[in-house]
Amino acid sequence: MSNNVKIIRNAIKCKTCGMVLESKHHHDWQCCQCFKDSGGTKGCFVDGGTAYLRRGGYPNDYEELSETRPYTEEEIAEEEKRREEQYKLLYGDDYKEWI
Ligand SMILES: [Zn+2]
Repeated sequence: MSNNVKIIRNAIKCKTCGMVLESKHHHDWQCCQCFKDSGGTKGCFVDGGTAYLRRGGYPNDYEELSETRPYTEEEIAEEEKRREEQYKLLYGDDYKEWI
């Protein structure tokens, strides 16, 4: 697991134009009006959905609205299991040597 927190909501609010930007999935890139109008020299953007928190712009120019929480033990166990299954598919019964 690359992140140690689970992303519930990936969102920021631009303090200049007041737009709330929310990235809902991995490749959902959203930018605010001033970013559009200035050709990317002002304003801000978000990206990454619930996979990672990617931001553009100056941190002082936007308000952070994201929500994250730590993974539960069940989720971590589930992820391990999922990973193990994947390796099993790839390497057959010898998969444990590859983990
Ligand atoms: Zn803006």
